[in-house]
Amino acid sequence: MTTSGGDEAVELLRQLIRNRCVNDGSAASGEEGRNAEVLVSVLEEAGADLERFEPVPGRVSLVARIEGSDPEAPSLCYLGHTDVVPVNEDNWSRDPFGGELVDGEVWGRGAVDMLNLTTAMSLAFARLSRRGFAPRGSLVLAAVADEEALGAHGAGWLTAHAADAVAADYVLTESGGMPLEMPGGTLLEIPVAEKGSCWCRLRVTGEAGHASQPLRTDNALVTAAEVVRRLASFRTRPEVLAPWASFVEAAGLAPELASALVDETRLDGLLEEMDDVTLARHAHACTHTTMAPTILHGGTKINVIPDAVELQVDIRTMPGWTEADVRALIAEAVGELADKVEVLEAVDDPPSASSADTPLFSAMRALAGRFHPDAVVVPSLMVGATDARFFRRKGVQAYGFGMFSNRLGYERYSAMFHGDDERIDVQSLEWSTAAFEELARDFLA
Ligand SMILES: [Zn+2]
Repeated sequence: MTTSGGDEAVELLRQLIRNRCVNDGSAASGEEGRNAEVLVSVLEEAGADLERFEPVPGRVSLVARIEGSDPEAPSLCYLGHTDVVPVNEDNWSRDPFGGELVDGEVWGRGAVDMLNLTTAMSLAFARLSRRGFAPRGSLVLAAVADEEALGAHGAGWLTAHAADAVAADYVLTESGGMPLEMPGGTLLEIPVAEKGSCWCRLRVTGEAGHASQPLRTDNALVTAAEVVRRLASFRTRPEVLAPWASFVEAAGLAPELASALVDETRLDGLLEEMDDVTLARHAHACTHTTMAPTILHGGTKINVIPDAVELQVDIRTMPGWTEADVRALIAEAVGELADKVEVLEAVDDPPSASSADTPLFSAMRALAGRFHPDAVVVPSLMVGATDARFFRRKGVQAYGFGMFSNRLGYERYSAMFHGDDERIDVQSLEWSTAAFEELARDFLA
């Protein structure tokens, strides 16, 4: 079968979507072995060297490598995940696992997060391999399982147990390169850092009693309501870091707004009053450690005053924050109720950051100009998490990269991560594939 580059990418993406490697967080889900086998056939046909890793049955990650000729030259790893999150089929206008091609867009769960990029990375690698690419620095392709459930069976496992296989000076993964139209022109964000998460389980205590006489009782649920209110309304200190400052500078906002957005003394007041809630929420998340109470369990019977309530809080930390800082933050936020609030568990996944001042970042900036000549490339801080964090913690410079057309638009694209009616346009798929191939040639040759 002969196919043009675009058809090849479309067909591969459709197969990956149809394999429905849905990761629901359980060890038995995902079954990424199916997507790994599809990629094996593409890569083997191209003559690539492959290694398979299967730490848990069915959870297959694949690593391919083109060895460089110069051990001193910088090496580069393309890191894509092969799992997807569950869907609510009722909310979709098409079969989420049909991989339908409609009006220049491929539909299905994972079309955006991130099977489109895994497709592009794999095809770029296969083309380079097929054409006998002989770089100075090594090129690695890692197609990994389990990104959607914290990576324990995928990138987390590989970096801990097969570090040599995925060793590289630089890693590129998801969430970069979607054009964002701002008053100052088009921006292309390349994530260089990610916030951490510290998921806390708290127990709020009181004293049991009969609910028929509630006056002056110590009701844990009532205390928990106040704890929730205090956590939600507590204002952490603003932290204006380099990625946020460079984003605001490039965005071309009105001068008064722009200067307030990077002024730690004026920022919080501005965010409370801004009409544009979407921008306010984004600006807040990029400049603050945030706390969101999300789950509350308590009470045993309608006529019993509860003596304990469990509360879960999703805390997202700015670079530099530690678990000890988070515990101190909770204590400060709940104030004199602290003796009724116990932190049962704090699952800390610390923040991670790379430098935007590297030769690879410059190479990505130059490459972006070939696709979006008028766009300004800006380093950004991600408020969510990707597999990049495992590599950054080992000293690797890791970024989010891809190359998208203007067709979807930033807002729709952002809403499609874990959202309904997820789809990607064929041009973006072709552009990302071309970008990963050209970047390897530019940077490693
Ligand atoms: Zn993803």
